[in-house]
Amino acid sequence: MREGEPGAELVELWREIRDVAAAEALLAWDQETYMPKGGLAGRASSLATLAGIKHGLLTSVRLSECLERCAEAAEPGGELEAQVRRARHHVDRAVRVPAELSRALAETSSLALAAWQEAREAASFETFRPILERMIDLKRQEAVAISPGGNVYDVLLDEHDPGATEEDLAPLFSELRERLAPIVAAVEASGVTVDESPALGHFDVAAQEAFGREISRAIGFDFSSGRLDTSAHPFCTGIGRTDVRMTWRSQEDDFRPALYGIVHESGHGLYEQGLPEEWNGSPLGEAVSLGIHESQSRLWENQVGRSHAFWRWALPRFQEHFPGTGTVSVETIWPTLHVVRPSLIRVEADEVTYNLHVAIRFEIERAIFAGEIEVGDLPERWNALYEELLGIHPPDDSVGVLQDIHWALGAFGYFHTYTLGTLAAAQLFDAADRELSDLEGSIAAGDFAPLLEWLRAAIHRQASRYEAAELIERATGAPLSPEPFLAQVGRDVDAVYGV
Ligand code: ZN
Repeated sequence: MREGEPGAELVELWREIRDVAAAEALLAWDQETYMPKGGLAGRASSLATLAGIKHGLLTSVRLSECLERCAEAAEPGGELEAQVRRARHHVDRAVRVPAELSRALAETSSLALAAWQEAREAASFETFRPILERMIDLKRQEAVAISPGGNVYDVLLDEHDPGATEEDLAPLFSELRERLAPIVAAVEASGVTVDESPALGHFDVAAQEAFGREISRAIGFDFSSGRLDTSAHPFCTGIGRTDVRMTWRSQEDDFRPALYGIVHESGHGLYEQGLPEEWNGSPLGEAVSLGIHESQSRLWENQVGRSHAFWRWALPRFQEHFPGTGTVSVETIWPTLHVVRPSLIRVEADEVTYNLHVAIRFEIERAIFAGEIEVGDLPERWNALYEELLGIHPPDDSVGVLQDIHWALGAFGYFHTYTLGTLAAAQLFDAADRELSDLEGSIAAGDFAPLLEWLRAAIHRQASRYEAAELIERATGAPLSPEPFLAQVGRDVDAVYGV
């Protein structure tokens, strides 16, 4: 792009937006990692100010005029057209939401967060209900402002996953429900109990960190362009492609949460570090969707990290970091990574039941925004769905309807991205396996570079050039499908439970 062209001006304007977003991300990361408790009020104020500045930049006349000139100059199907499409996704939403509503959402979400924490501790949904009702009302107003007369839930889905619709997702979730529930039932009926002792015991926290870092580095995470710190809930955030912050947490009696947490976040981190330099700071330079982001974390966590091949390479390293695990073998550890057990908490769920937890949330959110359910009836509906899909009943709301932070933050239409990512991970891995010679052999040898390079070319370097659905189709030769995931889960369950 030459100086003075509308595309060059767009990149210049977008870089400012991106810089403000980077400052927001860094402050949010700090809040979860190092900020003293006393910093909270000041931090909330700083973040609100930055959000206001970003909103001002997104809604500026200069940017909208620039986008018009870009749209006129763009060739159909070309890069500039894609830059405009991506920029408008953000700008259109920002322009249509009145500043007053936007402030009300920000304010309500910080109040709702506090109310949710209190309600969860007291296991009292009633404490949370009034502010949740207000949040839902505001999100409805926001959706109507963005797309008057449109499907409210679609607008919410689109925020996190551009192009996602209720109409496309509903049949996918019913299919997952129909095909996963019998697997869960068959596992229960098998009477097989996995011996989890190889994964349990005492695991020194410093050794867990060292082991996690070694694995993260081995799969390709660049610590000169990233960090790993501790936090209450693991996450990964890209301040920029050369400054990626991951967090982890550990459990002393079980090495799995820390290891798979670090591998998961490293998958997110590899995506951020692999975004192309040439689009850095431009609308196309960012990750395309949360679903695709999650596909990268899940792929390294599940398809790589929970495989036999991976453990053939990792076991000697595991035993080096954790003396006293000499009797553990690939054959004894592998089943402990594929235990299927209905449980109450989504974030602790296994590969099979996880998507049922997500299906329940999708079902409930649809009902809320279709006006089919009152907020006061949510706990009852929640518990009935857990009974129906997982055969368990939450003893109270803290481990039921109050367990997730998302609704307090106003993040409706978010959960499905976890499932899309899980399905896409399986499909991407299958495609890589077809295209690379002896992927299993290279993983077993600790050579992760061929797989990483395949992902770099197929996903990371494409950044936001294509919509998520098209990206998957280009990378794998087929539209996103649950089949690769279901086939893989079927193989694992058969190997562990014989069903
Ligand atoms: Zn994730």
